[in-house]
Amino acid sequence: MTVLFTVLSLSILATVLAAIVVLADYKLNDYGICKIDINNGARSLEVNGGSSLLSSLASQKIFIPSACGGKATCGLCKVTLVESVGPVLPTEEPFISEAEREAGVRLSCQVKVKQDLKIRIPDEFFNIKQYRTRVSEIKQLTHDIKQFRFQLLEPTTIDFKAGQYVQIDSKPYGKVTEAVSRAYSISSVPSENNIIELIIRLVPGGICTTFLHEHVNEGDEITFAGPFGDFYLHEGGDELIFIAGGSGLAPIRSLVLDILEKNLEKKMKFFFGAVRRRDLYYLDFFRELEEKYDNFTYIPALSGATPEDEWDGEQGLITDVVARHVPDAERRQAYLCGSPGMINACVQVLTKIGFSRDAIFFDEF
Ligand SMILES: Cc1cc2nc3c(=O)[nH]c(=O)nc-3n(C[C@H](O)[C@H](O)[C@H](O)COP(=O)(O)OP(=O)(O)OC[C@H]3O[C@@H](n4cnc5c(N)ncnc54)[C@H](O)[C@@H]3O)c2cc1C
Repeated sequence: MTVLFTVLSLSILATVLAAIVVLADYKLNDYGICKIDINNGARSLEVNGGSSLLSSLASQKIFIPSACGGKATCGLCKVTLVESVGPVLPTEEPFISEAEREAGVRLSCQVKVKQDLKIRIPDEFFNIKQYRTRVSEIKQLTHDIKQFRFQLLEPTTIDFKAGQYVQIDSKPYGKVTEAVSRAYSISSVPSENNIIELIIRLVPGGICTTFLHEHVNEGDEITFAGPFGDFYLHEGGDELIFIAGGSGLAPIRSLVLDILEKNLEKKMKFFFGAVRRRDLYYLDFFRELEEKYDNFTYIPALSGATPEDEWDGEQGLITDVVARHVPDAERRQAYLCGSPGMINACVQVLTKIGFSRDAIFFDEF
């Protein structure tokens, strides 16, 4: 009897304690409505507290660049907090310089909205919109790269600069229950403003690329936000050196076509690095451009060609090929797009050739 009484009392106590914890958690995390003041009164929002600043702003259609979708791995979603809400978190440290820390810069994906906030963001962020689109064409470009064409439904047109990117929203599929958003560079030209094209490489195990490659069909509706980024044509440079690998071709295609369309007085050399023949795409497209335009040279190169590739073009690492074709940095700029490894190696080679860091622009994938 005593044992039964003890077990019963302990069970009741445990239930009461659990209820208190749940209630306390609910109460402690109920931050109510919080006000967010942006750029000293330019916009004032009211949001439900408890979410990240990044998602709270997005819920009110203020889109901050974020290539990783809030995982603190891209470091792009910086905003300035006019009044501090606590120290920079360890997850933010790799991305925040000492000067930025002193100025109140934080990663908006790591700041939880628990109180009224005053923040500063660049004015151009107000122009970033969310678009509803229909997938009008999907093309397989290589064994692991597909091109997607999106017809804009609402709004029906987009203004962007060649080289910029958008953030595509995925949807839950299979065992993936979360929707994520990821950055993809626009490969089409700004003049065709009712569509955008993206070139997307399937990342094994990747949430968004698996969604796009295996769960999206022509006719489906997809949303994205944009345009984002500062990888566009900058002042200066009579000759532009473009270097890309893999899906890094996307923004370079947009830049090259935009420059040719606008008849800008720029010489262009486009180096595209791949391993085997099967990794090359848009080969005929760029060869035709080279034939048509005196100011455009196309140099595809294979680093691992075998006899079965029947390749008589440039061979070797793209860095060596660039070093062979670019004599000096005189009146030249370089635009690079690809993996961090490729970009680091190319920056080193270009620096050796004499390029200053402010003549080298890049987007790392
Ligand atoms: C400015 C910018 C522009 C870009 N433009 C392009 C473009 O034009 N084309 C393009 O193809 N890409 C582009 N990218 C890259 C793109 O944004 C994505 O990072 C990429 O497509 C991978 O997204 P994902 O959701 O498929 O992969 P994620 O789900 O983010 O996974 C990435 C990697 O992490 C691994 N991973 C995921 N979850 C786990 C886990 N739980 N444990 C261990 N490992 C895990 C995956 O296996 C994979 O290797 C761009 C990136 C940036 C920053």
